[in-house]
Formats: sequence, structure tokens, C-alpha cells
Amino acid sequence: MAAERIVVVGAGFAGLECVKRLEKRLRHEIDRGDVEVVVVSPHDYMLYLPLLPQVAAGVITTQAVTVSLPRALKRAHRLPGTVVGVDLERSTCIVHKISGEEIELPYDRLVLAPGSVTRKFDIPGLDEHALGMKNLAEAAYLRDHVISQLELANASTDDEERAARLQFVVVGGGYAGTETAACLQLLTESALKRFPRLDPGLVRWTLVDIAPRLMPELGERLGEQALDLLRRRGIEIKLETGVQEVTDSAVTFTDGTTLPTRTLVWTAGVTSNPLVKNLDVELVRGRLKVGADFLLPGRSDVFSLGDCAAVPDLTQDDPDAICPPTAQHATRMAATCADNVVASLHGQALKQYKHHDLGLVVDLGGTQAVAHPLGLELTGATAQVVTRGYHVFALPLMRTRLRVIANWILHLFGGDEFIRIGFLSGRKGTVEDFEGADTYLSADQIRERARAS
Ligand SMILES: Cc1cc2nc3c(=O)[nH]c(=O)nc-3n(C[C@H](O)[C@H](O)[C@H](O)COP(=O)(O)OP(=O)(O)OC[C@H]3O[C@@H](n4cnc5c(N)ncnc54)[C@H](O)[C@@H]3O)c2cc1C
Repeated sequence: MAAERIVVVGAGFAGLECVKRLEKRLRHEIDRGDVEVVVVSPHDYMLYLPLLPQVAAGVITTQAVTVSLPRALKRAHRLPGTVVGVDLERSTCIVHKISGEEIELPYDRLVLAPGSVTRKFDIPGLDEHALGMKNLAEAAYLRDHVISQLELANASTDDEERAARLQFVVVGGGYAGTETAACLQLLTESALKRFPRLDPGLVRWTLVDIAPRLMPELGERLGEQALDLLRRRGIEIKLETGVQEVTDSAVTFTDGTTLPTRTLVWTAGVTSNPLVKNLDVELVRGRLKVGADFLLPGRSDVFSLGDCAAVPDLTQDDPDAICPPTAQHATRMAATCADNVVASLHGQALKQYKHHDLGLVVDLGGTQAVAHPLGLELTGATAQVVTRGYHVFALPLMRTRLRVIANWILHLFGGDEFIRIGFLSGRKGTVEDFEGADTYLSADQIRERARAS
């Protein structure tokens, strides 16, 4: 066994960049066998989540938004599985391999980057009916579901059923929900030519949020412009409105109205991965409390970053400010975190993470976008060029960049076939199905196992 083992949990924005940096900084130690870097991930790819709405809309294929781990990583050892628990006392991860086998993986340094999951609320019917938009399977499933609603409505002889199947509701007016509603509305609009029996006036998208504004992080003016643009495209936007109940055939809102629908997409925020919630350590707003050096308080061997960690935002005057859960922060954090892991191995001082936000880009489909890069406020085609340029720049591998650009060009000239893969089997594939968390071990279960071993 190598003298020092670094285990990285998760290969998303934070995990992959961190491992790549560790490979670079520690290449001689790894080649000599002095250090081993192990990355545990249930998938063999890193997912570029900001382009997920375009996958659901059929603009980009599923494979094009992934970065292959075997291609991206040269020296790290890949363990295909999920870390279901961490015994901090014994410095050991408990891993469920994708084969179902469970193994223990001791570490000298641990980097926790398992990201976040969809945040749900205690709303009747939500667990049974809400569709998610947080991973590749959910995006592919949502696309199938939307196309199947068009097909079923087209085939229906019942006016009420047809109208309900053509109503689509997205909850969450952040960038994920807004992009999802905007991109999928374009999908249904252009699909209508293949469904001549459908009345275009019956196809309705509704975007709902409890907040008074869409995407507050964009600023008031750009948020208003995005709102106007979407309303002009026929998307109904209900602000200061929540969901009260969901059934198989309708959604009831907190303003008392009920909308007959078979589609509720739930993108109302994210919460930490269950792994970190079960650790029995201090959380800040549901995320792991860490210092600006990414270390857990009182520990010198456990680091955490990305969506699951409450990393202090040193660019703000407010001492309680934490970095927002964005890809931009996760990627930037990764380099500093990897450097700190290396510094901790070499007995050197750790760095503090400080990154000024570069702004936000929001793709509203076609030639429409809103962008807030480096303090500039952009809309329309200029914003779309900046938005797509930003994604191309941010994608980790040249091959992935080329694939995404090729997909955009193909879609522009070749359009969409609007075909389903065929996931539907008489019941909905819900957030619970795709992001279910029942395999994770609680802190008590881990203590119990440690006592028994
Ligand atoms: C639809 C959508 C659009 C978005 N658009 C933008 C945008 O435009 N700009 C922006 O900055 N941000 C955007 N985000 C947010 C951004 O994607 C996240 O902030 C970012 O992915 C966080 O990176 P991360 O590495 O912490 O988590 P992730 O990228 O989610 O990676 C976590 C990884 O850990 C793995 N994992 C999970 N649990 C375990 C476990 N127990 N054991 C091992 N591995 C595990 C997962 O499979 C995943 O590979 C968007 C998010 C969504 C959902």
C-alpha cells in the first residue's frame, strides 16, 4: 500500500478538478508509490450540469455533457461506487461498489465533494409526483415524459385529458428552473408541427416561485428583462406563489388555484448530499461547516468543498457569508483545496479561498439569453454568444467542447426528431426514484459497526 492515501469523494465540478490538480502536483510521489489518490464516484463521468436543460430539450445529447473520467484522469485510482458513510474516528470510508459489494476504504486525507441533491418540502403528493432535474437520468427522463405527454394528448379523444397533458409546471425560479422551463417550452413549440391534431393554444408552460423575483442573483433589471422575455414567449410566471398539493392529475397552488397537469418539475433549490448530513458534525444552513482552508473544524485530515460545504465567502463584508452553490465556485475551490491537501502532506501552511464572483449566464433557448458577466448586463443574441462562449470555456476537456459545439450546430440545422427512449412504464420516475437516499448510513449505524468490528 502507498504511504499516504488521499480519498476524494465525488467527481463533479469540485471533485474532478481537485483530483486533476492532485495528479499534477503529486505526480512524482504517485509514480513512486509514496502517495495514492483514490476517487470514489458512482459514475464514470463528470456531468456538466449547466447544460442539463439543453439535454432535456434535445439540443445536446446526453453523452456530450459528460467528461469521461478514464480520459480525464491519468494517475488516480477510480473506485466505482458510492460512499455511504464515513467513520471519522477510524479515518475510513464505507463504500458501496456499483456491484453491490460493500468495502472499507481507509484514508490519510479525505476530500468530501459529493455535491447536493434536490431540496424537497413536506408537501402532499410531492414525493409521488415531482420530477427532478439534477442528474443525467432525470434530464433524459424528463425529455421522454414531455414528449410522451404530447403524444398522449395527440392520441386522446377526451378534451379534459388532452388539456391537462399539455400543461407543464416548473417550480423554482432560479437559473435551473428558469432555463428548464425556457428550453423545454421551445421543445414543445417546435414539436407541435409533428402533432397536427394538437391546438397550439392549449400548450402552456407555467413557472412558479415563492420569491417576488426570478433569479435574484441576476440583479433586478436583468431579472425583469428575463421575466418579460419569457412572458412574451407565452410562459406564465407565478411569483410569490408556492405549491400546496400535487396529485396525479393536478397541482394546487398556495393562491388557491388548481391547474390540471400531469407534469410538475421540481427545481426549488438544493440541499447537501445526505452523506454529509449523516456525519454528525456541525452544519451551516444544511452544508458542512468548514474554514476558508476547506478543513472541518478541529480536524487536519478532512476537507470539504463545492455544493456540500459552507465555505466562508471572504469577498463579503458579512463574516457569516458563505459561497453560493455554483459550478464556478466549485471549480475554483478545487485548485485551492488540492493545494491545501498537498500542503498538509508536506507540513506547509494552508491557503484561504477567496474568489470574486465572475457573474452568471442564463440560456433561455434559441438565440435568447441573459448574462451578467463581470458586472455587465447583457440580453438577447449578445448574451447568448457570451453564455455559450462561457460554457465552451468552462467545459473541462477540448473533446467535450468540440462535441457540445457540434451538437449546437447540428441542432441549429438538423432540428430534433422528438423521439422517446421509452422510459415510461406506467408510473412516474420521481426525484425520490432518481436521487433516493436510503442507502446512506447514519452516524449511529457507523458507531455501531465500529463497536462490532
Ligand atoms: C440544471 C442545473 C443548472 C445549473 N446551472 C449552473 C450555471 O449555469 N452556473 C453555475 O455556476 N452553476 C450551475 N448549476 C449548479 C452547479 O452545477 C453546481 O453548483 C455544481 O455542480 C457543484 O459542484 P460539486 O462538485 O459540488 O457537485 P456536483 O457537480 O453535483 O458533483 C458531485 C459528484 O459527487 C458524486 N456523488 C454524490 N454522492 C456521492 C457519494 N456518496 N459517493 C461518491 N460520489 C458521490 C455525484 O455523482 C457527482 O458526480 C446548475 C445546476 C443544475 C442542477
